[in-house]
Amino acid sequence: MTTPFDDKLHDECGVFGVFGHEDAPALTALGLHALQHRGQEAAGIVAFDGTQFTAERHIGLVGDVFGTQGHAAHLQGPHAIGHVRYSTSGGSVARNVQPLFADLAGGGLAIAHNGNLTNARTLRNELVRDGAIFHSTSDTEVMIHLTARSEFKPVAKRLIDALKQVEGAYSLVALTSKKLIGARDPYGVRPLVLGKLDDAWILASESCAFDIIGAEFVRDVEPGEMVVITHDGLESIKPFAAKPQRFCIFEYVYFSRPDSQVEGRNVYDVRRNIGAELADEAPVAADMVVPVPDSGVPAALGFAVASGIPFELGITRNHYVGRTFIEPSERIRHLGVKLKHNANRHKLKGKRVVLVDDSIVRGTTSKKIVEMVRDAGALEVHFRIASPPTTHSCFYGVDTPDREDLLAHKFSIEGMRKFIQADSLAFVSRDGLYRAVGETKRDKNAPQFCDACFTGDYPIEPVEPDVDMALRQLSLLVEAV
Ligand code: SF4
Repeated sequence: MTTPFDDKLHDECGVFGVFGHEDAPALTALGLHALQHRGQEAAGIVAFDGTQFTAERHIGLVGDVFGTQGHAAHLQGPHAIGHVRYSTSGGSVARNVQPLFADLAGGGLAIAHNGNLTNARTLRNELVRDGAIFHSTSDTEVMIHLTARSEFKPVAKRLIDALKQVEGAYSLVALTSKKLIGARDPYGVRPLVLGKLDDAWILASESCAFDIIGAEFVRDVEPGEMVVITHDGLESIKPFAAKPQRFCIFEYVYFSRPDSQVEGRNVYDVRRNIGAELADEAPVAADMVVPVPDSGVPAALGFAVASGIPFELGITRNHYVGRTFIEPSERIRHLGVKLKHNANRHKLKGKRVVLVDDSIVRGTTSKKIVEMVRDAGALEVHFRIASPPTTHSCFYGVDTPDREDLLAHKFSIEGMRKFIQADSLAFVSRDGLYRAVGETKRDKNAPQFCDACFTGDYPIEPVEPDVDMALRQLSLLVEAV
């Protein structure tokens, strides 16, 4: 759900798991805290103490849910998985908060999932026809039902059987009474990394979640790989037919934290490289380079260093704009972007400014930021964007507006410039973005990444989201938050 002051794409989720540490639930809460940027609507942990599973799943930020006054206290045991959620698929309701848990023949299974299944609606309809009763509207429950119905043994094979039936993007962690399992879809669209803390194995969406608990980064879980962790160690399985790797390139542009190491690259370094590419591709005479904070900062630094134009923090971000203003009244709606960003008049007055941001989605925020910088006295405002124009929606676990609402779908670059009222507007080229991640250029016959929101070249056949899903069967239930 995008707020009125929020004109970004949003990753839907972050996942975390620990196997074999006495503080597993607390470590999971810390790991989720480091992954908070991947989802702010809800957080959940399922732990196993050797006898029973316990679960806490709530709407809210990790600190609110699992902070000192929170729900962590009764979670016990050496194994745990957790999830932070920012959702479109399945809606924002308490029953969809992950990890989901079910008692299957053979024992309990908890799953937390980042991504989106493109055939979830079809699978769900078939399962319901066969008598399955769904408790939630999330894709993850489809995986649980498919696992429950598999006739294979043990549970890892049942999960593989289930995953062979799903299509789309997923990075998941699953917990049984004996195993922690991590898996990525064959294209490897969403990230999942493996770490160690003493003798405990850790799984996380990003390596920044290892740093907070002092864990060591071991490696990325590979596309199409399942890692099965038990007291005997880690087993790597490659159960799926090999596919070309198509990691989400937007993870480097915006989703991942800059201090994360993802698919062998440091996210901050990639963002600086994009800024340098932009300076090379779209130079401009100016007095200062100003990032739109926070996401535009590394690319602006790269632009400033490459161009020799001084870097200035000409815009300050208020980090405390939160849920209070998610549904503002009409009376304060006109304050708009100023709730989140404020221009430093003292620095900007009389200056030619290059603004750098990560992307333009609807363009509404960009327009207001240009206006704000002009109002602060800037002589010229040039906008540079650290991604190619976002022309298509994402179907792989990212909250995107309908294609018709994307500014780059509606207008040419000149039309976009006029809309946001900048003196000039330029986006990094597709090849420039690929150079920034270390490739020579984009291979148009076999792109090295998923870049579908910039190109429309979808690695996995997209299916329109099921808009009715949130209204289905359980909609009369009262939501306990
Ligand atoms: S469509 Fe864009 S946001 Fe979605 S997975 Fe592909 S690159 Fe990432």
